Amino acid sequence: MSRPHAVLIPYPAQGHVTPLLHLAKVLHARGFFVTFVNSEYNHRRLLRSRGADSLAGLDDFRFETIPDGLPPCENDDVTQDIPSLCTSFATHGAALLRDLLARLDDAGRPPVSCLIPDGVMSFALEVAEEMGIPALVFWTTSACGFMGYLHFAELIDRGYVPLKDESYLTNGYLDTVLDRVPGMPGIRLRDMPSFVRTTDRDDVMLNFDSGEAQNAHRAQGVILNTFDAVEQDVVDALRLIFPRVYTVGPLPALAVAAARARSELEAIGGNLWKEDASCVAWLDGQQQPGSVVYVNFGSITVMSHAHLIEFAWGLARCGRPFMWVIRPDLVAGETAVLPEEFVDETKDRGIFLSWCPQEQVLGHPAIGLFLTHSGWNSTQESICAGVPMICWPFFAEQITNCRYVCAEWGIGLEIDSNVRREDVARLVLEAMDGDKGKDMRAKAAMWKEKAVAATAEGGTSSIGIGRLVEFLLGRSD
Ligand code: UDP
Repeated sequence: MSRPHAVLIPYPAQGHVTPLLHLAKVLHARGFFVTFVNSEYNHRRLLRSRGADSLAGLDDFRFETIPDGLPPCENDDVTQDIPSLCTSFATHGAALLRDLLARLDDAGRPPVSCLIPDGVMSFALEVAEEMGIPALVFWTTSACGFMGYLHFAELIDRGYVPLKDESYLTNGYLDTVLDRVPGMPGIRLRDMPSFVRTTDRDDVMLNFDSGEAQNAHRAQGVILNTFDAVEQDVVDALRLIFPRVYTVGPLPALAVAAARARSELEAIGGNLWKEDASCVAWLDGQQQPGSVVYVNFGSITVMSHAHLIEFAWGLARCGRPFMWVIRPDLVAGETAVLPEEFVDETKDRGIFLSWCPQEQVLGHPAIGLFLTHSGWNSTQESICAGVPMICWPFFAEQITNCRYVCAEWGIGLEIDSNVRREDVARLVLEAMDGDKGKDMRAKAAMWKEKAVAATAEGGTSSIGIGRLVEFLLGRSD
């Protein structure tokens, strides 16, 4: 029998490429031949940020590309337009993937035995059906975020969404408690992924994410980058909806262990921006453990210049050392520029960079608090490091993650979307010095322990990987 061959197809954005690459390494360590499919645009970015070696792959771990169908953009080192990417892949993805898989056939690889598309690249399910091979969707969101998307169809059917008019955004309607979201009692409309906040029935993201979530029913199973203990009720509810749900997170820990088994895998990385590791020396130089505020809003968040200024003066006011990662495209429509007086005033206790090795940073003992946009990878990385958060969710299921971080897990404080400098300063001090902060640190340490237990031998996520592999090898139903 030939070697099992898994083809993994991430949605082409940072928060998707990273977890799929982690899963690819884990499967490779379990004996799979791996083909990893990036968009041509991201492949070029990876070549720039990480160098050719990181994409040379191995004989049995190969990178391939498909075009994304978007017109070339002037600045090709930025996150692309999300709705355009979604529409483009939903329209052309199946044909592009068919062409690619036909090419792989004569390339001296074992025949493709399974497809693992991102949950929002469900066009691949149609291709797997044609080929008569199994396909499992990998939702890179939290389980609660995925459940949120899954529930969009019912919210539309029951007339909750779209909103009647713009006034419903502010008239208290979003506080409506939704009583039928499985495993998520007490959840309010405002906690659902942000795409419900529309008055347009034809809203691209509302329909796209709703449709993609429903398409998970056509897959043989759903893979989630979470662990049972942290989202037990939602995971249990999902297991009643889908025949196979594999919880395999937090994947970074499992991927590191997998790469150790084959050292060449360590060179393979998925950061689309070049990491500035000089910040680690700065962190090493901090005298007090847990003293630094780490600020990073991920790869997609954009903010107004006015918000940037409020964050800046809030950090100045709180008086703590901070490390602030500012992507060149963080401010909508312009290059992020900080006021000179702010940079002068904070130069002895703040550093700025444009992209960092985040997992390493969060794991550094100097870090005491993470001011984050609540992306799922960032949230999970913070849990793994036992670091409490201040949450400023931007869009999508970040809203739902924020609710869980603050209200369910007790490891975060939410900051108003219309952020003001006094709130930044107050919440930082509360999280670092106050009783609330003490409580959050204790809970963060507890969730960290649970995350470690999940990925240790015999833990739920290690078992999840084992079950996934058995299914993909055709040894279990
Ligand atoms: N990341 C990083 N360095 C940075 C910023 C982000 O390595 O300076 C990584 C981070 O560790 C995470 C991913 O990029 O794995 C961001 O994913 P997330 O789901 O948190 O947010 P998104 O970028 O999708 O909004």
